[in-house]
Amino acid sequence: MTQLTMTALFLLSLFLSSCIRLWLNLRQASCVLAHRASVPEAFAGDIDLAAHQKAADYTLAKGRYSRYDLAMGLIWVLLLTLGGGLQLMHDTVSHVFDAAGLWHGIALFGLLSVAGFVWELPGTLYYTFVLEARFGFNKTTPALFLTDLIKSTLIGVLIGTPLLWCVLWLMRSMGSYWWIWTWGVLIAFNLAAMLIYPVFIAPLFNKFEPLRDEALAARVRGLLDRCGFRAKGLFVMDGSRRSGHGNAYFTGFGAAKRIVFYDTLLEALNADEVEAVLAHELGHFKHRHIVQRVAVFALLSFLLFALLGWLSQQGAFFSGLGVSSQGDAMTLILFSLVLSPFTFPLTPLMSYWSRKHEFEADAYAAAHARAENLVSALVKLYRDNASTLTPDPLHSLFYDSHPPASIRIAHLRSAA
Ligand SMILES: [Zn+2]
Repeated sequence: MTQLTMTALFLLSLFLSSCIRLWLNLRQASCVLAHRASVPEAFAGDIDLAAHQKAADYTLAKGRYSRYDLAMGLIWVLLLTLGGGLQLMHDTVSHVFDAAGLWHGIALFGLLSVAGFVWELPGTLYYTFVLEARFGFNKTTPALFLTDLIKSTLIGVLIGTPLLWCVLWLMRSMGSYWWIWTWGVLIAFNLAAMLIYPVFIAPLFNKFEPLRDEALAARVRGLLDRCGFRAKGLFVMDGSRRSGHGNAYFTGFGAAKRIVFYDTLLEALNADEVEAVLAHELGHFKHRHIVQRVAVFALLSFLLFALLGWLSQQGAFFSGLGVSSQGDAMTLILFSLVLSPFTFPLTPLMSYWSRKHEFEADAYAAAHARAENLVSALVKLYRDNASTLTPDPLHSLFYDSHPPASIRIAHLRSAA
């Protein structure tokens, strides 16, 4: 591979994927706008015109933000690569750390993270404090935003530094098959994170209290018994501290499984509906969707690491992307920067797979709770979260992890 081929391949994939993203984004906007005037027939009576128009305006506002985000992301990648930004950062770090040492790589990662954070900060602030606030969803105060930032930075440094040190050491010490070792370490780290996160990290950001509503707890335990599911505990999380959006989930493995309800969800739904939503979540568990996801992630990342192992040997991979200093940290950084346009074609496949899982979980909920309760829960959640009921079919096909509202509810109604 020559330098010119690499540059051309990179620019072409970046350009194509950005055009497709923009095209889908504009399709979504015009579809939502075209249906803004009236509530779709299937939802008439459940959702009033004001709520429908709020959902349309919220979707349009998020779409505009996505276009800004797309443009900023594109500029950032180009600045770092062909614009010489990464090389500049490399040279800056070299003034302090020996370019051949492991700490040089760690410092380079640190500098890039800080620069990326600053680059994205205006967008992040706008999204949280202007866009979400305008539609009544933001509950994050500036003080909470700041303490969250400090906590997550500390956790990132405390966990990220040893992990990165380990990965860079493997790259240097394990010969040409370093990428298999690195892949193994990252998979092990991900599995450990799934165990550690709910018990040690999530409580740093939210309060978890046992579910006190005895009537609801009895309902939930009845459902768990019927489904043959053993949970370690039922918890309520103060999701309302940051956002008005609601959710239910469970975490952990084996006997350590805990079920967590957002307080916002319990506030919005009645006991019948909470039971149906939980039955849907249990459906994901019973169909082993989470295990399948982890397995596919492991397989895909193995293939990507094999590609990375090969690319790290190609001088053109570096020079074609505007970097003259090859190194282990630079290899990882370049790869993660240019990966997204290349994995972009996988997006519709992953979305399709996810929607298939949602249908399976809905069918499970219809069998173990009542389908009409899940329908009424979903309608309330669509309304309260201002989710559009009229997405563009192609946009939905490409991105949506959940089936569009009308199709999902039609499926459930036919199961009832
Ligand atoms: Zn689901």
